[in-house]
Amino acid sequence: MSNVLVVLEFADGKLKSSCLPGITCAKQIADTNGGELHFLVLAAEPSPLAQAVAGAGLGATTVHTMASPAFEPFTAEAWADGIVAAVHATNASVVGGTASSSLRDALPRAAALLDAALTSEVTAVGAEAVLTRPISAGRALLEQASSGDVAFFTARGSEFPPTEGGGAAATVSELETAEVSTRGVSVVDIQKTKSTRPALSEADVVVSGGRGMREGDNFKVLEELTDLLGGALGASRAATDAGMVPPDLQVGQTGKIVAPNLYIAVAISGAIQHLAGMKGSKTIVAVNKDEEAPIFQVADYGLVGKWEEELPKILELVKAAKAG
Ligand SMILES: Cc1cc2nc3c(=O)[nH]c(=O)nc-3n(C[C@H](O)[C@H](O)[C@H](O)COP(=O)(O)OP(=O)(O)OC[C@H]3O[C@@H](n4cnc5c(N)ncnc54)[C@H](O)[C@@H]3O)c2cc1C
Repeated sequence: MSNVLVVLEFADGKLKSSCLPGITCAKQIADTNGGELHFLVLAAEPSPLAQAVAGAGLGATTVHTMASPAFEPFTAEAWADGIVAAVHATNASVVGGTASSSLRDALPRAAALLDAALTSEVTAVGAEAVLTRPISAGRALLEQASSGDVAFFTARGSEFPPTEGGGAAATVSELETAEVSTRGVSVVDIQKTKSTRPALSEADVVVSGGRGMREGDNFKVLEELTDLLGGALGASRAATDAGMVPPDLQVGQTGKIVAPNLYIAVAISGAIQHLAGMKGSKTIVAVNKDEEAPIFQVADYGLVGKWEEELPKILELVKAAKAG
């Protein structure tokens, strides 16, 4: 039996919705290899979290828990130890989850500890669990099959629909706590971005600014558009590296992968590494003063002009449309 184990993440006692596409990917893998779907909850006190997930009927037969104070706050080192111990205890042959920043950090470490292969940013599951992933910043797709006793994956959240609950309840099983080490890593402080806007990777609309915005203050006009459209603010790496906006707003290969219904790129050239994070968006609108900017090659609607002149006009049009 080739069981698939999904590592879950929680915030404020609730399952993060970002886990749901990873569960869908895992289900597809389990369906192709005839295995069962299992979940893993790593926390200081995992039982209440696991009970809630088990009751939600998300398709797993078993929700495994492992308790250790070292699992909170998150460190990739401690979670990797927990995942390795869970793999041994459950005999899972495939292990993964959504490619969140935490699991992108912890799962490769666990795979390395087990000398196992990891397929990252999976976008599709084929017959016999052959996994597709983008390579070369999305220029090509690679189909990858893993050999060995256990294989790891991270699933690109924008490529799989969120799993819906309402199925049969799962059973909860407590795993023995493994020897867990943070290997000298300690979390000194956690600074959470407080925002009333939706999370970047879950928003329906994303408005992003690039280096051409020149300074952080100029992002106010993008924030106004973002709020009018009920979306999330994003940025290119050039803008975050320059300190115009916080680094967690970075969209792209080394930032967040987004696939909203509407992506508005303002003063962003469209480097391949930026496109890797947003080209799955349903509709792409670009505003750039350079008509040769590569972003226009992926844009559904392009506006050649300076943002200083075009954004006020767009804001007026959106306000007028909203007013009726
Ligand atoms: C390994 C690696 C990983 C990377 N990961 C990422 C990533 O995750 N995300 C990412 O974004 N980048 C990433 N990069 C960087 C990437 O290669 C580009 O350097 C970056 O995306 C450029 O950002 P930009 O488009 O804002 O800036 P630029 O390329 O400098 O473009 C600025 C644009 O603004 C336009 N502009 C200027 N003034 C105005 C104006 N007044 N009105 C309208 N338009 C104007 C210009 O015409 C230009 O097209 C990565 C690079 C490497 C090597």
